[in-house]
Amino acid sequence: MPPVPPPDPRPALCGLSPEALTRLLYPLPAFRARQIFKWIAGGALSFDQMTNLPLNLREELARRFLVYSGVMSARLDAPDGTVKIQIRLRDGAKIEAVLLSEETKNDSPEQAEPRTRRYTACLSTQAGCPAGCVFCKTGSLGFLRNLDSAEITGQFLMLRAIAPLISNIVIMGMGEPLLNLEELRRALSVLTNPGGLGISSRRITLSTSGIIGGIRDLADQGPPIRLALSLTTAREDLRQRLMPIGRTNPLPALKEALGYFQQKGGGRLTLEAVLLAGINTRREDAAALIAFAKGLDTVVNLIPWNPIEGMEFEGKALKEPSKQEVAEFTRLLEQGGLKVIRRFRRGRSIRGACGQLGLAALPEEPGKQGLEKAD
Ligand code: SAH
Ligand code: SF4
Repeated sequence: MPPVPPPDPRPALCGLSPEALTRLLYPLPAFRARQIFKWIAGGALSFDQMTNLPLNLREELARRFLVYSGVMSARLDAPDGTVKIQIRLRDGAKIEAVLLSEETKNDSPEQAEPRTRRYTACLSTQAGCPAGCVFCKTGSLGFLRNLDSAEITGQFLMLRAIAPLISNIVIMGMGEPLLNLEELRRALSVLTNPGGLGISSRRITLSTSGIIGGIRDLADQGPPIRLALSLTTAREDLRQRLMPIGRTNPLPALKEALGYFQQKGGGRLTLEAVLLAGINTRREDAAALIAFAKGLDTVVNLIPWNPIEGMEFEGKALKEPSKQEVAEFTRLLEQGGLKVIRRFRRGRSIRGACGQLGLAALPEEPGKQGLEKAD
């Protein structure tokens, strides 16, 4: 085997705000930093393309910096329109990001097109995940490392090269985002910057396994994004067995943190429950969930478990719930006054659906470098 070359030491610029770029590029004037920021937000892949910068500056930038800190190493398209990309980072770590799309009705009578497509980027925040949820492929990989701001921002930019009009972001890919909040904040400040992509904070949803300190930190320090909690079940004992991270983040304190988040203007909270046949779809689970939601402004998102081969819980193979099981559980929750939605089955054929992000499923295409535009 040929020796693996050491990672490129040049810093990548795509994860920096205009202010951070200005500091890094000092004594270059701030307006140059803003120009570079705009180019990257606009989709430039190399300094070469930044044609309003003097040639010698472009050459110097290329010597000292990179635009991206990873390359797209594979792309998988599902028949339902979902696209999953794999990104190889500089140290060889691999992560995945997903482009989701759905047809939405257009309310505005002035628009000629009655239907439009809405694109959502699903981003990863860690390579692997330390939370260890027993039903999740990413969890089964263990934890490799946190992603930096450039690696998070880069995922969005690579997906945007596939679909130019992405309006929404869900931070629901690989990893536990609230265990990497500082780098995520940096990335979000780039993605929401009005001088660049200008994604609205209200169109960004972060999903967490329930890190109490992180929820309070987000409530206090922002940014004002939406929050989804992967509750799975509100039966404490079962939850701690399904989601080991729940042992250090118990439900009563978690609920208090969620109340605090809402008090601070956090808006409606999504309670996500991945449904595992015969495990967390019982009457007791419905009753506990209804009690947990009491006093909070919530909508419940039920996600039938997306199958992953070989996954088991306490010696028994996990199974996806039947339609009847899901319908009955939905009925119980609705009877208890909860608003229930069902989402995120998309992308299953390419293992790009919730909880299926992991690397074994994706064949590497060694010849593919950098970004490619879809036709
Ligand atoms: N780590 C964060 C975000 C990524 S997981 C979190 O846990 O919230 C995103 C969602 O996928 C979570 O709600 C999780 O419970 C769910 N999920 C995990 N594995 C799944 C699977 N195999 N099928 C369906 N949903 C799954
Ligand atoms: Fe991590 Fe979320 Fe998977 Fe749990 S469900 S292991 S928190 S990625």
